[in-house]
Parts: sequence; C-alpha cells; structure tokens
Amino acid sequence: MRFHRITYPDVNNGIGCRVTLWVSGCTHHCKGCHNKETWSFNTGRVFNDEYKNKLFEIVSLPYIKGLTLSGGDPLCSPNEILGLLKEYRLRFGNEKDVWLYTGFTMDEILANGWQDIISMVDYVVDGRFDKNLRDVTLPFRGSSNHQVYRILDGGYINVSDVLFDT
Ligand code: SF4
Repeated sequence: MRFHRITYPDVNNGIGCRVTLWVSGCTHHCKGCHNKETWSFNTGRVFNDEYKNKLFEIVSLPYIKGLTLSGGDPLCSPNEILGLLKEYRLRFGNEKDVWLYTGFTMDEILANGWQDIISMVDYVVDGRFDKNLRDVTLPFRGSSNHQVYRILDGGYINVSDVLFDT
C-alpha cells in the first residue's frame, strides 16, 4: 500500500483533532473529485514500518483523538487496511478512535465481506462524491448522498443528521 500524505492536526475529517492517512489508490473516479492525484495506486510513498511507526507516534499525542483513513479510497486496499487496523487496536485499544472515509456505500461494504474491517472502526463516511449534491455546510461530508455511520457492537446507526460537537 502507498500513501500520499499524513496530516495533523486535522479537524475537518472527523470529531476532534485527528491525524489523517491519505491512502493512494481509488477506482471510483467520481466527477468533481478534489483528490484526483490520489487515484493511482502507484503514486505517493510506500507505507512501510517507518511511516507506520511515525503515524502511531502522532496518534499517541495527547491532543490527538484518533486516526482518520481517507484517500484515495482505503477500502481499495482492504487487506493492508485490515492489517493496519489490527495493529492500531493492539496498540491503542479503544483509547483512540478511527474514522474511515470510503467511496463504497455501506451496502457495498457489507456485500464485499468487509465486516472485519468495519468492526474495528468507530465511524464510516460512505459513498461516491456527487458534485450535484455538493454541500459545504454538512459536517464531515462533501455531498448530501454521503452518510455518516456510527459503528457499534454488531451493527451501525446512521448519524448523518446529528450535529456533531467538534
Ligand atoms: S471516492 Fe473519494 S477519492 Fe475516490 S474519486 Fe470519489 S471523491 Fe475522489
């Protein structure tokens, strides 16, 4: 897996001060995408142990609430993301949270058998970007078709209409 950049503190992609890993590679190619430079799986740098350790160091900072996975589409590299999340939970337990941004809808995520990935994140923001539904007033999502799901033991609830206290 490759990545484009690691940014922090990030307050735009989930609740609280976060660190965001921008994963390379996206097959959705939404019209109006603002991250076209991340579409290629060959762009950016290899996400090796050095970068993983650096990422975890940043997550450890007391003011960092958790990790956001974005891109690109992290779920276009599901095996690597699963491995990263397993290490993350081993190290941080539930002390730090995870937001996952993906172009796949929740129905597609479940149909693809990615429940094991979803079970290790706290929030999922799903779906392709639809430039006709773009709405900059929506917290944490770019177009109104995007849904924000809170992942809970054994299920999830749609919290898109909840006003988040950031
Ligand atoms: S899913 Fe996200 S990164 Fe991929 S093309 Fe759509 S808006 Fe761009």
